[in-house]
Amino acid sequence: MSEKTDRPKRMETRLPEKFMPTINYNTCVQCKRCVNECSFQAIDVRDNKVVPKGGCVACGRCIAVCPTSAIEIRPLPSQFPPHGNWTERMRRGIYAQANSGGVLLSSCGTDEPYDVIFEDILLDAAQVTNPSIDPLREPVETRTYLGGRPGRIEVCEGEHMKLCGGEGPIIEMDMPIMLGHVSLGSVSYNTQKALFMAAKELNIIAGSGEGGLHEDFYVYADHICSEVASGRFGVNASYLKNTAAVEIKVGQGAKPGLGGHLPGEKVTKLISETRMIPLGTDALSPYPHHDIYSIEDLQQLISVLKEATEYGRPVGVKIAAVHNVGAIASGIVRAGADFITIDGFKGGTGSAPRVIRDNAGLPIEVAIAVVDKRLTDEGLRNRVTIAAGGGIRCSADMIKAIALGADIAMVSTAAMIAMGCRVCQQCHRGLCPWGIATQREDLMARLDPEQAAARVVRLFRAWNEELREVIGGMGIDSVESLVGNRDRLRYMGPNPKIAEVMGLKTVGEGWG
Ligand code: SF4
Ligand code: SF4
Repeated sequence: MSEKTDRPKRMETRLPEKFMPTINYNTCVQCKRCVNECSFQAIDVRDNKVVPKGGCVACGRCIAVCPTSAIEIRPLPSQFPPHGNWTERMRRGIYAQANSGGVLLSSCGTDEPYDVIFEDILLDAAQVTNPSIDPLREPVETRTYLGGRPGRIEVCEGEHMKLCGGEGPIIEMDMPIMLGHVSLGSVSYNTQKALFMAAKELNIIAGSGEGGLHEDFYVYADHICSEVASGRFGVNASYLKNTAAVEIKVGQGAKPGLGGHLPGEKVTKLISETRMIPLGTDALSPYPHHDIYSIEDLQQLISVLKEATEYGRPVGVKIAAVHNVGAIASGIVRAGADFITIDGFKGGTGSAPRVIRDNAGLPIEVAIAVVDKRLTDEGLRNRVTIAAGGGIRCSADMIKAIALGADIAMVSTAAMIAMGCRVCQQCHRGLCPWGIATQREDLMARLDPEQAAARVVRLFRAWNEELREVIGGMGIDSVESLVGNRDRLRYMGPNPKIAEVMGLKTVGEGWG
């Protein structure tokens, strides 16, 4: 190509659209609301008429604001010649990288159609000899504790009972749900406020994420678990003390082995002050903690954090679910952690390289069972709380996660969906049209924290009610008696080896 021509020097492949906003001009009143509300600018005005422009991600905002229901979003048929091996997804990825030369980013959990092991597991129910318990007439307890547990109970002569260990701080929650860590920066101020408000109302705990804690949120301290990640963003004495629990974040399910990633576009003044980083710079946490290369190093940091919080907060460790998760969890308990949080392969994220999100880690179902079994075999399980998340979508998943061995289900994406998220996987672009994963003032204003919190509260109250009904139907009167009760689960999936690893019987096998 001649240097003098105006033609571009780099050949860019223009990719076919995936979605198309389709407008019914019989009912459209040309109010232009869809144009003004679409933060991806996928709808335009031409000759005073609303028309699709391209770049639609199916966020659904236009549908929600249209006063005459005149707009719908249609997924477009593939424009690629069919090929069983070179799928459209593969080819789109190659074209995008040939255009940009960069790592493909995405958000939310993986959207690859992997099997969901929760769906291969059936719960047991009580019949005849083990009668069920009606939660409308009898107590079915869902109170749950986060923190170090007494290792054992000793019955001494002349005394009643003595707890051995577990004298440390412990948090009582009304239900076995923890709102997962979503950081300020990844989500908006209003989103984090809504989550903390919901946690307070539900009497549960919400994770702060690794972005520090804005001083406005100190009023929710009793319901926040702070995070100390490898970047140490926003970590100082007041941050640690203004939370109910402290968690060392070693890994995250959506990007095991990697550090956090917040694009510079989202680092506004408020975020830079809270995180204690320069305005507009990418916030990239180092992959490892540079002071943790062994269990002994981890033990030191746990001790330091306990001391920094005057032994008044449970201190836990969050890890991504990986193949050696049982041994790692054992080391974490021996290092003195009060709780372990395990984040599964399908966990959400505000931004992650797609290659990691879609290809690395371990399904949470397997990780929970392996950790619970390993800690039980080593006599350690009764010392800690296990929180587990990364793929828990509904109360049935939560109940199965608990029966597999978790004390607490950690949930984030479902809470976001309750607030309005459409799982369009565009959080990393900072343009969330629902005001959730954005720092743009006009978009943030779209989320009312009170209303969003109320929706999260209703969702989890409903889950807790379903939990009470299901365990009552299993003849169990307390969620603590469900924890690790794998004998009440049966595997009916395609791979019996998975059942063996998880310590599950297959369908048709009886008790005992
Ligand atoms: S919001 Fe609905 S009525 Fe208004 S311009 Fe868009 S499609 Fe037409
Ligand atoms: S938070 Fe917003 S940008 Fe992210 S997936 Fe949900 S709707 Fe899309």
